[in-house]
Amino acid sequence: MGIKENLKKIETEIFDIKEKSGQQDRIVQLLAVSKTKPVEFLIDAYECGQRLFGENRINEAEIKVPLLPSDAIFHMIGHLQSNKVKKACQLFDCIQSVDSLKIAKKINNSCLELDKIMDVYLEINIVNDVHKTGFIIDDQFYNVFNEIISLDNIKVLGLMCIGAHVSDKGIIKESFNSLKQLSEDLRVKFPNFKGEKLSMGMSSDYSEAIEAGSTMVRVGSSIFGIRK
Ligand SMILES: *Cc1c(COP(=O)(O)O)cnc(C)c1O
Repeated sequence: MGIKENLKKIETEIFDIKEKSGQQDRIVQLLAVSKTKPVEFLIDAYECGQRLFGENRINEAEIKVPLLPSDAIFHMIGHLQSNKVKKACQLFDCIQSVDSLKIAKKINNSCLELDKIMDVYLEINIVNDVHKTGFIIDDQFYNVFNEIISLDNIKVLGLMCIGAHVSDKGIIKESFNSLKQLSEDLRVKFPNFKGEKLSMGMSSDYSEAIEAGSTMVRVGSSIFGIRK
């Protein structure tokens, strides 16, 4: 199947899952994860009406972003190195992979220079796996969180996670439920914090993520084909 059919199929599935889980009224956005794919694929998707794209490397984004019309929206979803922050702030409309206070402060400083406010998500290591990126939720996290939401040139829209990497759908859904719960807890603890968005769900697990309350699924291989 081609990109057009894939996009249609996924949009329909998202609609059906929302209906089935009684969430017709919630908006679930589709981020087309185009990392490693040629720019022609992105243009194809754009011509089908897709506007949201996800990339994970600065060098790759530098080539692709200028080749898409200016209303295409790019989200950074990969781990960001300090020395690439400034470039990332120039290229991207949103950074979903904020995984440390240090990176948050760097983004804030770069955006101050660029006179812009960056939309971000905080990436949460929801399965507490030391080999994965993202914040681990311990006592210290709440202090760090408080510092991040006080930065003036970033706006924390919500939380992002990668679901548990297991085959048991119940465990995967549990990990998404935990992210939703964390998001609610944070809004109780920090009444000034309004970030309700939840970026969760990929090709293999977006149904579970939507059932658990995802507001954005990040889908790559089911749209553009498997990556080598
Ligand atoms: C690659 C990637 C995706 C998309 O993965 P697929 O399995 O191809 O849908 C989503 N989120 C992140 C953070 C990724 O790195």
